[in-house]
Amino acid sequence: MGERHDADGRALTALPAVHELAAALDAPRALAVAAARRAIAEERDHILAGQPASQRLLDRAGQIAAELQRPSLRRVLNATGVIVHTNLGRAPLPAAARDAVAATAHGYSNLELDLDTGERGSRQTHIEHLLGQLSGAEAALAVNNGAAAVLLAAAALAGPERAIIVSRGQLVEIGGGFRIPEVIAHSGSELIEVGTTNRTSLADYRHALDAVGDRAGAILRVHQSNFRALGFVSDVEIEELCALDVPVIDDVGSGVLIPRIEDEPSLSRSVAAGATLVCCSGDKLLGGPQAGLLVGSSDAVSSARSHPLSRAMRIDKLSLAALEATLSLYRDPQRARREVPVLAMLSSSEEELAARAERIRAAIGSDAAEVVWATAKVGGGALPLLELEGPVVAIDDPRGADTLASALRAGEPPVIARIRESRVLLDPRTLTDEEADLLAAAVRTALP
Ligand SMILES: *Cc1c(COP(=O)(O)O)cnc(C)c1O
Repeated sequence: MGERHDADGRALTALPAVHELAAALDAPRALAVAAARRAIAEERDHILAGQPASQRLLDRAGQIAAELQRPSLRRVLNATGVIVHTNLGRAPLPAAARDAVAATAHGYSNLELDLDTGERGSRQTHIEHLLGQLSGAEAALAVNNGAAAVLLAAAALAGPERAIIVSRGQLVEIGGGFRIPEVIAHSGSELIEVGTTNRTSLADYRHALDAVGDRAGAILRVHQSNFRALGFVSDVEIEELCALDVPVIDDVGSGVLIPRIEDEPSLSRSVAAGATLVCCSGDKLLGGPQAGLLVGSSDAVSSARSHPLSRAMRIDKLSLAALEATLSLYRDPQRARREVPVLAMLSSSEEELAARAERIRAAIGSDAAEVVWATAKVGGGALPLLELEGPVVAIDDPRGADTLASALRAGEPPVIARIRESRVLLDPRTLTDEEADLLAAAVRTALP
């Protein structure tokens, strides 16, 4: 016992001083000191636990220093098959949008300068015309995100002393605590609920309008983005709501700009129906940067634009650059389907997916991997019932699927996968071919 303590004591005194170890590291001073301190503390704990002194204190300190210098926000490989994954940054940007971001980030831009007159301009001019053309609306405005668009629409068309009428079937939570009743409360408007959870009729809206009288600011319709009510249900179509004598805000959610993406509502239908303001996100099915879009009548858009909240929700120049470039692709719908990654992933062919799955399986090159058939979701609160079927790579790991999944997350680049029936599934739908190769290498490293 005494000898053990002596040996430990000697090992402890042999530990270098923090400043000595730090000086041997190739890292900024403060960071090197932090890494050295942590490595020495770890080593001291080892020794006190009776483990042999490590020969590799310098390596370990170097490793810690590298971890401390690694960015917190990193690229990951999305092997979940969930196309619009909110935790993974939603929509990957089209190449044209990435180029526009890089060009705008590089130097100065005409963000708010009219190059013809040399006078101050509006950042909205860069997208307003395009959004108008694509949706059929008179005017348009881009803000920070979809939630901001809805709040701004409610504040601009209603606000204090005025009421917003909403069907009880649409008093929904979108995710991340975005709840329609709370948004309306924060706009300063009074919420008037009509109908029931499963059924709301035009007469319900009419009665509410009669009761509210002059105080009626708007009817708000909210798309059930992340769920569907089935069975004895009915609600009122946008065309019928727009025939009532009150402004209509239509929150369509995912931002569909081309004909028919399953049963998701498009902006142009609501604009054609006569909605006063139509709101959506930029980074769901639209496939662009985080943004909120408002399109509608000139009067309504200018009220939104001049509302004090709009400055607090202002879109930044990099998102604006990505948004303009993404919207430009939609001038040719075929091109948008090819070049907007979200749309391309939605319509990937079975052959393409099978070829990529096989490429991943072959590159992993282990008996543990096989190609099987599975289904995935669109995610991000769009098309909740749609099952995207296709081939995926399934991996068996004797240590268990959770162990493999966490080893994959700890890798470089981190890989995010889904688990089904005790196997890790790697879905080729949300990976490019280049990412498929990186993924296979990451899996080889993570397997025992
Ligand atoms: C997603 C969504 C929002 C919120 O948009 P964010 O861009 O996530 O802020 C609002 N309303 C509906 C119907 C949605 O689907």
